Amino acid sequence: MKFLLDSHTHTLASGHAYCTLLEMVRAAAERELELICITDHAPGMELTTHRDYFLNFKVIDREIYGVKVLMGAELNVMDFDGTVDLPPKLLNNLDMAVASQHIWCMPQGGDADANTQAMVRAMDTCPKICILGHPDDGRYPLDYEALVRSAGERDVLLEVNNTSLSPACSRVNSTANVKEMLSVCRREGVPVVVGSDAHFVSAVGGHQYAQALLEEVGFPAELVLNGDPAAFLAHLERRLGRGS
Ligand SMILES: [Zn+2]
Repeated sequence: MKFLLDSHTHTLASGHAYCTLLEMVRAAAERELELICITDHAPGMELTTHRDYFLNFKVIDREIYGVKVLMGAELNVMDFDGTVDLPPKLLNNLDMAVASQHIWCMPQGGDADANTQAMVRAMDTCPKICILGHPDDGRYPLDYEALVRSAGERDVLLEVNNTSLSPACSRVNSTANVKEMLSVCRREGVPVVVGSDAHFVSAVGGHQYAQALLEEVGFPAELVLNGDPAAFLAHLERRLGRGS
């Protein structure tokens, strides 16, 4: 399968990434991607500096260098109630959102039920969430049976995060967790999307670790949406069209 889209990338606006939006999209064009999602981190507790960034997405062309651009965010899930860190006014401006648990926002120590319920509640309260980001970090154990079923029922995609599977990543036990997630996705027919989680141009479109794992477990290509941007967009539209 040719990977034609990247669903998870960061620019300078994230604060700990190093390239501009144009540089990231140009890298996508050079790698012959047809679509890129720009998903900068929502600000956590520091809203003021980021408010204007998320407010003014209307000025950004949605096709640049021949690449379709979706302006989103990687939302932090902040607590076990599934609270996310952008208010509705800013969420309304997003084309889509990834929602993830991060050690700088989400309390650790919850069991799999609690962490899974946090993600389910986030999906239920925030209709912009189209993708669950890196649901593979052993610091936040998850009940994959419940998570995959809940995501599938809500037309939310599970992410296979290429960075999580790289040897340098600090997330814990990701390879085994992704394998478990994929086995449930395959059985339930729930699709996944590979996101690079790029924080620099060289990582845009990166999928080598994810692809190797998908091939190792024999995951069905038709359930990986990276080869079909139209199917990816249709999936997002189904989710966003629910409006709840
Ligand atoms: Zn993340």
